[in-house]
Amino acid sequence: MADVHMGESREMEMETETFAFQAEINQLLSLIINTFYSNKEIFLREIVSNASDALDKIRFESLTDKSKLDAQPELFIRIVPDKVNKTLSIIDSGIGMTKGDLVNNLGTIAKSGTKEFMEALQAGADVSMIGQFGVGFYSAYLVAEKVIVTTKHNDDEQYIWESQAGGSFTITRDVNGEPLGRGTKITLFLKEDQLEYLEERRLKDLVKKHSEFISYPIYLWTEKTTEKEVSDDEDEETNKEEEGDVEEVDEEKEKKHKKKKVKEVNHEWELINKQKPIWLRKPEEITKEEYAAFYKSLTNDWEDHLAVKHFSVEGQLEFKAILFVPKRAPFDLFDTRKKLSNVKLYVRRVFITDNCEELMPEYLSFVKGVVDSDDLPLNISREMLQQNKILKVIKKNLVKKCIEMFNEIAENKENFNKFYEAFSKNIKLGIHEDSQNRAKLAELLRFHSTKSGDDMTSLKDYVARMKEGQKEIYYITGESKKAVENSPFLERLKKKGYEVLFMVDAIDEYVVSQLKEYDGKKLVSATKEGLKLEDESEEEKKKKEEKKKSFENLCKIIKDILGDKVEKVVVSERIVDSPCCLVTGEYGWTANMERIMKAQALRDTSMSSYMSSKKTMEINPDNPIMEELRKRAEADKNDKSVKDLVMLLFEAALLTSGFSLDDPNTFAARIHRMLKLGLSIDEDDTGSEDADMPPPLEEEGDEESKMEEVD
Ligand code: ADP
Ligand code: MG
Repeated sequence: MADVHMGESREMEMETETFAFQAEINQLLSLIINTFYSNKEIFLREIVSNASDALDKIRFESLTDKSKLDAQPELFIRIVPDKVNKTLSIIDSGIGMTKGDLVNNLGTIAKSGTKEFMEALQAGADVSMIGQFGVGFYSAYLVAEKVIVTTKHNDDEQYIWESQAGGSFTITRDVNGEPLGRGTKITLFLKEDQLEYLEERRLKDLVKKHSEFISYPIYLWTEKTTEKEVSDDEDEETNKEEEGDVEEVDEEKEKKHKKKKVKEVNHEWELINKQKPIWLRKPEEITKEEYAAFYKSLTNDWEDHLAVKHFSVEGQLEFKAILFVPKRAPFDLFDTRKKLSNVKLYVRRVFITDNCEELMPEYLSFVKGVVDSDDLPLNISREMLQQNKILKVIKKNLVKKCIEMFNEIAENKENFNKFYEAFSKNIKLGIHEDSQNRAKLAELLRFHSTKSGDDMTSLKDYVARMKEGQKEIYYITGESKKAVENSPFLERLKKKGYEVLFMVDAIDEYVVSQLKEYDGKKLVSATKEGLKLEDESEEEKKKKEEKKKSFENLCKIIKDILGDKVEKVVVSERIVDSPCCLVTGEYGWTANMERIMKAQALRDTSMSSYMSSKKTMEINPDNPIMEELRKRAEADKNDKSVKDLVMLLFEAALLTSGFSLDDPNTFAARIHRMLKLGLSIDEDDTGSEDADMPPPLEEEGDEESKMEEVD
């Protein structure tokens, strides 16, 4: 081949293209090179993990097209330390990269994690986190001053990528180099102070520590000096052989002749990883450390897992699986671009895919692990995976086991707190989406409440604490614990000794709308219409009825004043101290939901006017302000002060009930006028200095309503 293309080859040799690193990648490289990190050894794990990924890819392609392996049938990773040239090479027979791949993957297109990783580093994160952010390749520059990547993809020629960082890299077609067949060779030109990575012992330990569970053989090019016994007669012959790499001794001959000791230097490929998949072993024989090592090699995580579940399913369907819960949420937990499953699918030990969405529901995408099925066909395509019945059954089992695992975590409070902090949104998403497992997932919910103090309570514990006669579970939604814990809505409930859950996560609104009840007890919003509390006695009820009646007229007057701002005005059963509050329809949005929807830029406006319009004003007949208002209104229906007071009460109620003010200026103007009144300042006195004041109150159809007219 070289002969045929000789003319062309010479030309090509000169053709070296230079590319600039994308800006963020360039920044990342400077950071890696110029900052001191003690944990440099992780570079090997990253390079080996890329090799393993590349092997996975070609093996998967070969399942449907065997000829893809022709150029290099063996699948392996080889590590070659070269003490003379001070280089360390990692060679794989994986899928390789085309020229286009090289340009895109190694320098010109930044992954979403590039920036996040730099931010994490600057915030003190460990450099070993690099793999999780999808930029592991660049860790090569922790130990190397120059990196050369030689690669051959089935669809392209062999190319060389080369860079000493410093802003740019070059790509050259590899015409004279040793052909790889297929795959990639990464050669690291080690920095003077990093030569320890040429030591056999160090490399073996590193592979054991970080890459033990790679499912392809990893061979190390080793040097062995052995003392060998040879017979006198064959001395000459053996010496000749010594120059080559002799490995075996002919034992038969050895026995027949006299023996003599000779030193020999041999080179050989030594297999340095066990590849028996850990999931095939018995759980009781696997140590916690082994699980942790496997978890780390699977996920590139730098920390141990929080929980693990290792199981096999037998019977009609057979598969083995190991599932892990990480200690933290990944940086892109709810990033829609990231892949939806983190469970690797194997079929009879052969890796199929790590991006099978049919294996796990989205809300469990944070669970990592492996599944090895005995029943799926080896040559299954991605399309086939989508409608595969076996996969559906596997998925169902995986979800069940995940929930079991979460319940196991819940047995240890400290661990569960960690878990909940990281993944409560996922659990809640599950309640919203997974109707089959809703009840089980509800057991994992935790909320602060009027009685939980600093801890959070489960629904189960809430129910256990329910007062005699209490039939429902009460909750209030809002922006934060602080915003809801002193809400007027809680007054009656608190007085009765009923516990109220604080649902202050935006997603909680969606959760309750799906959950509806727990343990046969209805979940009731303290801020919605229809909160009915059982009264203690008939007598009390009667008294209440009478009071209610006496306020009916005031309700009408208030409704007339507020017009469309409220749906209706009623006498409240839930407030004790505050004069009034605004509740929302049982099926409409709560104030909190209105806030959330307003914050969502692309909300459907027709929906929002429909859902948000149903506010009911509840007034407290026991409150002195209301009592005074009633007296004035009854004395003179057209008393101007009544109208101003009602507007102020309404606006204050909007705020205490968690709504926002559409027009804060008018509200402020009203307050200012009240202040002047309280301070006995006559508005006319202020004259022209008053230019800064907001315009006087003007409500539709009522020009006379001016505060100065208030007594
Ligand atoms: P990640 O492995 O998370 O994708 P890396 O920075 O480690 O990120 O690698 C970047 C990309 O470079 C890989 O996604 C892959 O496309 C390519 N790559 C790196 N090493 C190899 C290799 N040995 N064989 C084939 N492609 C590779
Ligand atoms: Mg990688």
